[in-house]
Amino acid sequence: MSLFDELYGYLSTDTLCRMYYCGDHEVFEFYKEYDENSIISRREYPFLESLLSFLEIDHTSDFLQLDQIKRDLVLYPGYQDRKRAETAQRELRGLSKTHIYYQIMNIACRQELIKAEHYHGYSLYALNRLLRFCNNPNMYISYITEFIENVLNIDHAGRYPKRRMKQLYEHTMEDSDDVFRFQPISISYKMVKEGEIVPVLYSSNILELMDFALRTCVEREITVRRCKNCGRYFAQTGRVSAEYCSRPPAEGQAVCREFGAFQQWTLKQENDPIYKAYRREYKRRFAWIKAGRITAEAFYAWSKQAQEKHKECEKGHLSLEEFQAWLKKEG
Ligand SMILES: [Zn+2]
Repeated sequence: MSLFDELYGYLSTDTLCRMYYCGDHEVFEFYKEYDENSIISRREYPFLESLLSFLEIDHTSDFLQLDQIKRDLVLYPGYQDRKRAETAQRELRGLSKTHIYYQIMNIACRQELIKAEHYHGYSLYALNRLLRFCNNPNMYISYITEFIENVLNIDHAGRYPKRRMKQLYEHTMEDSDDVFRFQPISISYKMVKEGEIVPVLYSSNILELMDFALRTCVEREITVRRCKNCGRYFAQTGRVSAEYCSRPPAEGQAVCREFGAFQQWTLKQENDPIYKAYRREYKRRFAWIKAGRITAEAFYAWSKQAQEKHKECEKGHLSLEEFQAWLKKEG
């Protein structure tokens, strides 16, 4: 069930969103405004997944939609032009299927519109704030991408994001507005489901969600790297030497980390003289079956013995020379 469907029944009441990072994952929780502990819905992803996947979307069409939504809602607020407000809500609902950020935005905007419709003179300040990202989404995306590259990317910025950020702050003008700047956001500490006390962000604002993601990386000194297999960024929540991601892969593909392990294994085998000697002989004898020189049974009997010898040699009970001699002798 989509998040929207799940929450739809609650939308007339006040649903709020909070999110936090815990260990190697991130959690979004939707709860009732008047009862913090009543959670309506919960979504969990690998650490930084929501931000990284948002940056990877082809934004050609959704940014055009955002621009129209903003015009419809801000220039012609709901109570003034119902038709435009309805169109905007439909568009938002469509967008909300493509990413969790849009789902959150959709839910929050919808509630603001309901309030605006019900209470005459209701301030649209909160709605305008929610739509702040729509003012210049391309600019925000490029600032954030640059921040990741210049501060968090271990291969470009080094191992310590905090130190790196200090250097950048020292070298960019305080009032320079062409770089990413952190803004005050609503964070509290909370005991979460995992039993830990962590900083929790209370917001439905896309800019603040992204801000919180970056500052969490800096605070926890978590670096990112481009995966050697898929080329996407991944957060190094474990070893900093990790080269393959374990992010959700495209449908039908293996997780890169598993692929990486397989690659490493193959590489190791290719450079391993014991395995090479064994493999060469294996192939040679396998061809003998086709040539009618030996029976399949004889081959499999030999290969079973050869595997045993291979193991012994790997353990060091047999030297490479002895193993090679054995492989030749049994011809
Ligand atoms: Zn990958």
